[in-house]
Amino acid sequence: MDGQIPMQETVFAKRSVPGVKRIILVGSGKGGVGKSTVSANIALALSKLNGKVGLLDADIYGPSIPKIMGVEGSRLQVSEKNKIIPISKYNISLVSMGFLLPSEDVPVIWRGPMLMKALTQMLFDVDWNDLDYLVIDLPPGTGDVQLTLAQTIKINGAVVVTTPQDVALADVRKATAMFQKVEIPVLGVIENMAYFICPDSGKKYYIFGKGKTSEFASAYGIKILGSIPLDPEVAELSDKGKPVVIEKPDSEVAKAFIAIGKIIKELVEKEE
Ligand code: ADP
Repeated sequence: MDGQIPMQETVFAKRSVPGVKRIILVGSGKGGVGKSTVSANIALALSKLNGKVGLLDADIYGPSIPKIMGVEGSRLQVSEKNKIIPISKYNISLVSMGFLLPSEDVPVIWRGPMLMKALTQMLFDVDWNDLDYLVIDLPPGTGDVQLTLAQTIKINGAVVVTTPQDVALADVRKATAMFQKVEIPVLGVIENMAYFICPDSGKKYYIFGKGKTSEFASAYGIKILGSIPLDPEVAELSDKGKPVVIEKPDSEVAKAFIAIGKIIKELVEKEE
């Protein structure tokens, strides 16, 4: 079957993360579709909707959350109780591999077991301090990190991010199949860079095509949580560490993120 991936049939005991009420995973098939931008803005949207929110950057090979959230170069401190104290920005508790690397240009060259150990610490050895939501920005694809997290911790739902292009959609199918295989509820797909609104005419242009994401969503029996326009300002603000939900709350993009935040909240909380 399209999207089916081989996987060991092992039963894992799933653990909760101390100090965290609900966990949302954000995954994608490919890199570059805007997964980290979406993770950050969803965390901010959930926080604006009255929640205590954390964001764990588990994209350990390419941590971009510190830049997007404007805290590049920050370093994690450890409390007296030997717990990692998250970096706080825009009311979000942040933990990222980026806070442990000497500089942005240093690649992560650790092998599997060390990475897994670091990831486990970045999740369990943190003073999360009673979060309503922890959003986890996964690496792209269906590798070790995704599987380990999906099989070992209690997760309320996963969200997949794609652009409406064939190349991105082909890979997001696999990511979706992986979550479904490990029985994590897929809350839905977010279509990023769905269209461009011409600033002169206000007309919408579907640069990568229209309708492909809904074909994928119906084939996999999942919802489209929302469509985010392609807006050059999003990239510009991200590069400056000023997420659009904070900086331009009245923009079309920010409104789309808030609307998605509301849907995620409703879907997750109705299952409780
Ligand atoms: P990923 O985490 O999937 O690799 P990023 O979130 O790092 O992707 O985004 C890749 C690039 O695309 C970044 O420069 C980001 O600012 C930009 N980007 C993401 N979403 C949008 C959007 N809706 N409009 C314009 N640029 C975007």
